Amino acid sequence: QKISPELLYLNDVSVVFDGFRALNSLSLTIGEKEMRAIIGPNGAGKTTMMDVITGKTRPTVGTALFDGGVHDLTKLDEATIAGLGIGRKFQTPTVIENHDVETNVELALKADKGPFAKLFSRRTPQVQERIDEILERVRLKNARHRRAGDLSHGQKQWLEIGMLLAQEPKLLLVDEPAAGMTDAETADTAVLLREIAETRSVVVVEHDMIFVRDLGVKVTVLHEGSVLAEGSLDHVSSNERVIEVYLGR
Ligand code: ADP
Repeated sequence: QKISPELLYLNDVSVVFDGFRALNSLSLTIGEKEMRAIIGPNGAGKTTMMDVITGKTRPTVGTALFDGGVHDLTKLDEATIAGLGIGRKFQTPTVIENHDVETNVELALKADKGPFAKLFSRRTPQVQERIDEILERVRLKNARHRRAGDLSHGQKQWLEIGMLLAQEPKLLLVDEPAAGMTDAETADTAVLLREIAETRSVVVVEHDMIFVRDLGVKVTVLHEGSVLAEGSLDHVSSNERVIEVYLGR
């Protein structure tokens, strides 16, 4: 039974490493089909928060619930959490460089069959249709036969997002998607993520404020392991404490 409408509910989550509080009573909720940008200086706890959500790190104390309270993320392992529909994209793309673009997506669609999926199953019309949909979504239809290793950095990021979409996540966590992208790719990525957030929730950790502005979504500012400010980018960027933290005073 659903006890809260939120897709993700973090309440008073702390993570203590050897006495150091990487997260300090962090509370945050993400709604269905909401996109949220998470910003904050280095060491603010952004990665640790993602690690808690994906089950890589267990909170020392606190509550982490998924899907309206149905699942307690603090009691599940990483593979189980991924299976619930939480996908995570790390900063460095992990596409298979020697395969072409559509084979990468195909392998992601068959990921449950492991690295040998390609040997054992044909590309059925249904699989081809899903590949086409995904490539269309991530703007790589015209690059489908290109070797993944020959894509631009930005295109590799999009391919990896496409590979994550193959798993139909309810929540997509994206770590600095705009890092290393050209201005044009950055702008396209904002549009792409907004489209993705029409059908699922997206959490974006990002340093590039132009990109965050382009996303046009609610921003959560983390500092020393908890939420320092929350609201529109205009709202948080005029907050005195946020400015102090960014200027390192
Ligand atoms: P951010 O992603 O916002 O830069 P992190 O979540 O990576 O911040 O780190 C928050 C703090 O926790 C940092 O000071 C970091 O050094 C510390 N930290 C992160 N992981 C560990 C760990 N496994 N052991 C000890 N300290 C850690």
